[in-house]
Amino acid sequence: MSEALTGLVLKGIGGFYYVQCGDTLYSCRARGKFRKDRISPYAGDRVRFTVDENGEGYLSEILPRKNFLVRPPLANLDKLFIVSSVSDPQPSTLIIDKTIAAAELKGIEPVLVFTKTDLDDAAPLREIYGMIGIRCYFVSAVDGVGVESLRPELTGCVSAFTGNSGVGKSTLLNALMPELVLETGEISRKLGRGRHTTRHVELYPVEGGYVADTPGFSTMDIDRYELFRKEELPDGFREFAPYIGACRFTSCSHTCEKGCAVLEAAEAGKISRSRLESYIAMYNEVKDIKEWQLSKS
Ligand code: GDP
Ligand code: ZN
Repeated sequence: MSEALTGLVLKGIGGFYYVQCGDTLYSCRARGKFRKDRISPYAGDRVRFTVDENGEGYLSEILPRKNFLVRPPLANLDKLFIVSSVSDPQPSTLIIDKTIAAAELKGIEPVLVFTKTDLDDAAPLREIYGMIGIRCYFVSAVDGVGVESLRPELTGCVSAFTGNSGVGKSTLLNALMPELVLETGEISRKLGRGRHTTRHVELYPVEGGYVADTPGFSTMDIDRYELFRKEELPDGFREFAPYIGACRFTSCSHTCEKGCAVLEAAEAGKISRSRLESYIAMYNEVKDIKEWQLSKS
């Protein structure tokens, strides 16, 4: 048995975990210990493992996670690319804002990507999202505008793309990393099944980082699996922070109180009306959620 090594789980499939350590990809089994602890390793997990004389690996420990997405199951994401088309399908600012908030509250950096700019100039979206302090890209795969500007965002981090079906995620990923899709097709053919029937999540090396292959990752999952506490909701709206700090009411919900600094900032055009509307809609959705419902998620 080797000394314990530390690596990154790229995928788990059929009881094996593929762990990247330096330049080597080890296939590892989980020990019974994991079953007892009722904790499973997932893509993105940092793990300790040993290797026997036949080169077979055994996981011994999952290192503490900095965050975890329930669906798709992914650990330790650094960055979440939130993809929406400017048209066809029409974007929903509420869904975008919910996804941003989910990322913020988990400590995952949100990056906004608006696709299909050849169809619409997206002036309202540029105005709303240009002023919130989150990096924002407007791209078109049809005329190539903006696509390459995304590449540096992939460098050196573990990231995933989210967005509803049809917004152009696959087209964008193909344009950015043709080798990834080729490789995926190749593996699927060897296994004798189509790429989209695979259920597991896999991390692919790209630009010195890793990107999750998440074909089924839709924003519906945010509604279903990511519940917010109303107290933490303001942290999902980073540009509100100075006004929340300035709000003189200690238990203000910042949704309807007369004299609230957040509402006044929106009135004065310092916070976008659309973002405030999302905040209020989300607050009204979560205000009656009970603690036991949150702990279940
Ligand atoms: P996904 O479901 O998010 O992976 O979306 P796809 O990449 O499959 O794209 C959905 C549809 O949008 C396809 O018909 C694409 O050809 C089209 N599409 C993708 N990107 C663009 C774009 O930048 N401009 C336009 N006009 N259409 C696009
Ligand atoms: Zn307030």
